[in-house]
Amino acid sequence: MSRRSAVIGGNWKMNTTLAEATELAAELTTRIGSVGHPDVVIFPPFPNLHAVDTVIRDTRLQLGAQDVFWAEKGAYTGEVSAAMLKSVGARWVIVGHSERRHIIGESDEVVNAKLRLALSTGLDVVLAVGETESQREANETQYVLASQLGRSLDGVDKPAGARLVIAYEPVWAIGTGRTATPEQAQAAHAFIRAWLGDRWSYEVAAGTSIQYGGSVSAANAFDLLAQPDIDGALVGGASLKAEEFASIVMAQRELLENDRSDTIGS
Ligand code: PEP
Repeated sequence: MSRRSAVIGGNWKMNTTLAEATELAAELTTRIGSVGHPDVVIFPPFPNLHAVDTVIRDTRLQLGAQDVFWAEKGAYTGEVSAAMLKSVGARWVIVGHSERRHIIGESDEVVNAKLRLALSTGLDVVLAVGETESQREANETQYVLASQLGRSLDGVDKPAGARLVIAYEPVWAIGTGRTATPEQAQAAHAFIRAWLGDRWSYEVAAGTSIQYGGSVSAANAFDLLAQPDIDGALVGGASLKAEEFASIVMAQRELLENDRSDTIGS
């Protein structure tokens, strides 16, 4: 089977000073700056976006922001608009990350407003969804995923122009070192893909990249990424180590190349 395009994201979270960010970007440029497949997107903190853009501009690495505000502009002290992000070189944005949902208190409605504004501004969007540990234990994973997807995508047409990537990120696996098993992740991804098929169409579902996120490392990436419905990864902690992030990217690249040779051979 030919794989959809895959996206490996590096979410630096609230880490890196300006000097650290440009150093990390330069190291990534050396290691994986010419890798175009998978798409590789790094998400530095807001203050470092412009400087990182100048480091990676002539490479195949892409730039994203970790968040965006839901209004176009105006009296929203401290917030950052989609147009501002584009003006400093960002092409992507993450919305609905569990740290924003659970620590900052963002609702699905806020996520929806951010997502709509980002898509309409022409940013590519990574929409993160995922269940907590107690929700999984209560057998509510599918209910939670369907509810987050439904509310976050309310009023969103089948994405045209800008791209929409879904990141399945079980909350209990984020930053904990407790990765979902490949089977657990595959089951959730297959559910999300079926949901997208019901929401839009089989073609849209089949063509949408669904990333896994939650303690992805060089050691576990290949087995996760080899699952048929996993099209890339959103990587937090491990994305701050250039060598480790590069090996996750190369694991995905190897899988894409294997798929390509299977297709050519068939
Ligand atoms: C994330 O920040 O989206 C994430 C998955 O973090 P980590 O890889 O550290 O679990």
